[in-house]
Parts: sequence; structure tokens; C-alpha cells
Amino acid sequence: MLDEFLLWAEVDLDAIAHNVAAVKAHVGDDVDVLAVVKANAYGHGLRQVSEVALESGASRLVLNHIPAAVILRQAGFRAPIFVMGYIPLGSVPCAVDNDLVLTVSSRELAQAVSAAAVAQRKRVRVHVKVDTGMARFGIGPEETVAFVDWLRQLPGIELEGVYTHFATADATDKSYAFQQLAVFEQLLADLAGQGINVPMRHAANSAATLSMPEAHFDAVRLGVAMYGLYPSTETTRSVELQPALSLHSRVGRVRTLPAGHSVSYGQTFVTEKATRVALVPCGYGDGYMRLASNRGAVLIRGQRAPIIGRICMDQMVVDVSHIDGVCVEDKVVLIGTQGEGGVSADDVAGWADTINYEIVTHLLPRVPRVYRRHGQIVSVMEGWQ
Ligand SMILES: *Cc1c(COP(=O)(O)O)cnc(C)c1O
Repeated sequence: MLDEFLLWAEVDLDAIAHNVAAVKAHVGDDVDVLAVVKANAYGHGLRQVSEVALESGASRLVLNHIPAAVILRQAGFRAPIFVMGYIPLGSVPCAVDNDLVLTVSSRELAQAVSAAAVAQRKRVRVHVKVDTGMARFGIGPEETVAFVDWLRQLPGIELEGVYTHFATADATDKSYAFQQLAVFEQLLADLAGQGINVPMRHAANSAATLSMPEAHFDAVRLGVAMYGLYPSTETTRSVELQPALSLHSRVGRVRTLPAGHSVSYGQTFVTEKATRVALVPCGYGDGYMRLASNRGAVLIRGQRAPIIGRICMDQMVVDVSHIDGVCVEDKVVLIGTQGEGGVSADDVAGWADTINYEIVTHLLPRVPRVYRRHGQIVSVMEGWQ
């Protein structure tokens, strides 16, 4: 089956299982692990990742978009699904109908949720997001006690959680994150002082999960680390992670160019000597970053072959002069390991001036995903489905 594909991603579900279990062991029994599966599980596949995360110790799924949550419900997922982001007022009835746990961050939204809950005869669990300094989403800490007190009286609403999000948990200098933590702790103390019980207090993303144990509270929101990637080079490697995603292709053409021959659009690369080049059928139309042109490399026969000239929509050209015997149909690894060689999502991110998150999330749906569990291929997702 794989020999039909030009380009495919392999997702090692065993690695995801390992990462969730290792993080669960790191945070301990009293702390829930919430599996963040937004953006099609960071490009890895919503349903497949959700299933293995729940099997491996995550207690619930977390995302930002109601349609993705509906896909999970339609696929039969019964675990709690927590929606972190802003949701349009018009989507509230659907969210309630699908038994989602919602973030409310305004009185308008809270009233809409309450009305939908009453209309559908349900109790809806809600969390309040507090903006302790990220300036992205949530309500100000100074308004929170009054808001929560008002909210919990609304019919059909059950206050389950209060949470915040750090801006610098992945940096060596965490002073701003610790200031945010202090604001959050003060707020929790104020809520407790008002006799308001909050069963689920949470703040940590992957970076804080790995390097700020004081921020674990009742649950951690595990995103990028679940996929085996560290949030930054500065993050403490307190848990050994295994990258889940690899990207594969095969050589489509090999030829030798004479000295002085340009390669690809714009003639940004010109050979200095006779150069053996190989065509790799992968490009920015697959989500591979064009900024890696003339900077990145791929693996062929276990060795790095530099990308020369501009990356095109569907293809790129690599220099294989130093690699013996390269021929058409040779396996190419764009992310992953091959023999002694390795190219990580972090390497590609470095070449493209971005973060590993963007590299994996950008892989487009036309790239088939091949899933492995217990070493075997268990499913393949192909095309725009
Ligand atoms: C995306 C996100 C997370 C997960 O972040 P990672 O760095 O991938 O672990 C956690 N919390 C919020 C609010 C998020 O938006």
C-alpha cells in the first residue's frame, strides 16, 4: 500500500501512548492529564490521537472548535470534551446538545449557555478562563470573583473549573509566568475565601507541565509534548518524549547537472561543480515550509541531502553528490530517522524560522497519514476527509 504513495506521514500511536503515560507518571495520580487535540491533533489526526490518548491515561479531550468536537461525538467518543476558546453565541445550542464542557468568559455567553441548558433540560459544566497576563482570552482577575459568583447561580450551569494560560512557561526566564501564577493563586484564594468551591483548577501547558511543577494544580493541558515534541529548546527535559510523526517520500528522478547550472524557480541556486541531484515530490502544497529552500535537508540512504533551489508547490530538488548509488524510488525521510541519520521537526522549524508546532500542524490533508500501533499499520487516512 505504501508503495502507491508519493509522500506520506506516519504517526506512531505507540509514541503518543508512551508520552501520555510518561507525563501522567510525572504529574502523579492527583493531577488529570487533558489531551489537547486542537488543529486536527496538531496535524496528527483527531480521532486516532484522541483514542490512544484516552486509552493511555488522559481523562478528557481539549480543543477550540465546536465542529471538531462534533466529529468526535459522531465518531462515538463519550469522554468529556472541553472547549477552551471563544465560541460564537450561535453555536451554543449545538455545543450543549453535544454535551461539551465550555469556557465562559462573558455574561452574554454565560446567559446563552444557561438558556440552552434550560431549553435542553441539561446541566452544562463550565470553566472560567482568567487572563492573568497573556492578554489573549479570558476575563480580568479583578472581575473574576464577582463573575464566578454570579455565574454559579445561573440555572443549568455547573461551575467545574477556573483556569489560566502562561505566556513564558517555555522560556528559561520564567519570571513573567511566575507573576501570572501568583495572580492566579491569589484569585483561587479569594474564591475559596468566598466559599466558592472550584473542583478543577488548571494552568499548565506542556512547558509548565515539564518545568513548573508548582503550576500543575488539578489538571495539566498537554499539547505539543503529547506528540513527542518539546515546546522549546529551553524547556526542561524532565520527561523523555518520543516524536510521533515522521514524513516520508521517495526519489522521483536522479540526474547530474554540469557546473554553472541553476536549479528551480528564480535561479537561487547555481551548481559550482558537476552535481548529482534528486527530485523529491514534496513541496509547500503539502505544508512543507518554503522558507527551508536552500537551507534544509532530507535523508536519503541515511545521509543528509541538502535542499537546493526554491521549494516548489509539489516538488523540491536535493543534492545527492556525496551519497553513493541514489536511484529512483529510494526512500526519502523529510522528518524522522533513517539509518544513522535524523531530521527532526525542530530542525525543519529552525530552517523555516518557526516552531515545531507549526511544522507538524501545517501538513495538509492531501498527505496521507499512516497509523502504527504496536508496530503494525492499523489505519490509513487518505485525502481530504
Ligand atoms: C494550545 C493550548 C495548550 C497546549 O499547549 P502546548 O504548548 O501545546 O502544550 C494549553 N492551553 C491552552 C489555553 C492552549 O491554547
